[in-house]
Amino acid sequence: MIAVDAVAVETIALIGLAWLGLAVGSFLNVVIYRLPLQKSVVRPGSRCPGCGYELRWFDNIPVLSWLLLRGRCRTCGASISIRYPIVEILTMVMFLLHWWVFGWTVLMAVRLVFACALIALFAIDLEHHLLPDRITLPGIVVGLVSSLIVPGGPLDAILGTILGGGVLWAIGEAYYRYSGQEGMGGGDVKMLAMVGAFLGWKLVLVTLVLSSVAGSVIGLLVIAIKRGGMKYALPYGTFLALGALAASLVGNRVVAWYLGLYDF
Ligand SMILES: [Zn+2]
Repeated sequence: MIAVDAVAVETIALIGLAWLGLAVGSFLNVVIYRLPLQKSVVRPGSRCPGCGYELRWFDNIPVLSWLLLRGRCRTCGASISIRYPIVEILTMVMFLLHWWVFGWTVLMAVRLVFACALIALFAIDLEHHLLPDRITLPGIVVGLVSSLIVPGGPLDAILGTILGGGVLWAIGEAYYRYSGQEGMGGGDVKMLAMVGAFLGWKLVLVTLVLSSVAGSVIGLLVIAIKRGGMKYALPYGTFLALGALAASLVGNRVVAWYLGLYDF
């Protein structure tokens, strides 16, 4: 009887977590749309960019509203990007994945905040080739402060911030001196510093490795599909986001496997 109750409680908690993921995803959509336009993410309420129709609560139900309205505004019929339901579903999946990896821990909550920042950065960089300071700089602070209450500790977080920011800054600086062109945007530097603040110095390295792998795989796919070379090169921040998400979820296993294999 007790076991059954425990299962029931866990199931309800997970449904709650999934719902929270959808709701947070819905908020991330607002952030993704408004931050690059320098608008407030809090006010006013959501409106149709086409006709200004103010969305009511029933137009704002994650995924469901988009499906019911078939991706169009209720009044003017302007199409609503499929990005909205995609971000919502993706965020929900991320929430459940984090529970699966970390369980109900403080670490899960902290890493979820990190994942949300990465989802927003990924989408904004993809569309605008921009990594807003309004996400990365508070992200560094939140990462450093939260290191006081999660495994790893503050020293690791501080080293991670310095290494993360330092590595990309040095590469950018070297490239600039060599070619006279800006290669790496300042946004990438701050983003990897944020990754270091949340994940510590080892996982910064894992993030760099995983994002180059992601970059190569996606680059080859683009070449294979488009047959047009790297004309549609994706911005580096999108790969950093993918690499950092993977490092956050499985990075410690990657490190353990690497150390075990090579017996340091
Ligand atoms: Zn409209």
